Amino acid sequence: MTTTLNRSKKVLGIEQAPPRHWVGDGFPVRSMFSYDSAPALSPFLLLDYGAPSEFPPALAPRGVGEHPHRGFETVTIAYQGEVEHRDSAGHKGRIGPGDVQWMTAASGIVHEEMHGREFTKNGGTLEMVQLWVNLPARFKKAPPGYQDVVGSRTPVVALAGDAGTVRVIAGAFEKEKGPARTFTPIELWDMRLRAGKVANLNVPAGQSTALLFLHGGGRVNGSKSVDEEQLVVLDRDGETLSIEAAADSTILLLSGAPIDEPVVGHGPFVMNTENEIRQAIADYRNGLMGHLD
Ligand code: MN
Repeated sequence: MTTTLNRSKKVLGIEQAPPRHWVGDGFPVRSMFSYDSAPALSPFLLLDYGAPSEFPPALAPRGVGEHPHRGFETVTIAYQGEVEHRDSAGHKGRIGPGDVQWMTAASGIVHEEMHGREFTKNGGTLEMVQLWVNLPARFKKAPPGYQDVVGSRTPVVALAGDAGTVRVIAGAFEKEKGPARTFTPIELWDMRLRAGKVANLNVPAGQSTALLFLHGGGRVNGSKSVDEEQLVVLDRDGETLSIEAAADSTILLLSGAPIDEPVVGHGPFVMNTENEIRQAIADYRNGLMGHLD
């Protein structure tokens, strides 16, 4: 008989949200972490959180106009409001609350990210996350891709003890698998925990793991208390997490197998070497990443 010894992941830090900045004129966000500063969370490169903000009705959609990416994936999660995407590989998509857009830039893409048409017309509250996921060197030259991960087709698992729910965007929770296809093992879970309850979770051993508290608060593995708009960074070692929710909480769990390769980034390009960055800039300037129609 084998004995499995599940070890609790150590909390390495609780990161405060830095000041807000605008991405284009549509997305007021705080960068909860970035690959060019601490903490190191490979395969995740960056996480921007756009806490709820109000937009009045408008005639023209706000957002970020045509811009390139190469070498990684952008994952956009809509919590409130509506985001529309269009890219040079011919993909188009509009995501609303509960939906996720998983864009694989890989060899290179040009896209725009705007508020949705209806949202622009009516105004409302926008709340979103954008996560950048690195690709291993062998997939950085793969053709670009796009997945609409529709909320209504994403499995939701009830936690034991009426502690809340886990919506599995990627990876697996208990017997449910998330619909997003990933290049390396990744867990991405949209969790809602109930005040006063405890959620006990397992992630695969050896993964980089972090929890973004969007709303609510609590404690993770006996840490000091965590507030909304804070990021809990956990050690790669160990696989169990225990989250005590002090209030009704919305938490995003990200966990992934680290890609132990050099990371060299410049703006929208993340590659392995300086030469590849110079090549990316040249290829974009020469139109090799395409254009929007
Ligand atoms: Mn982009």
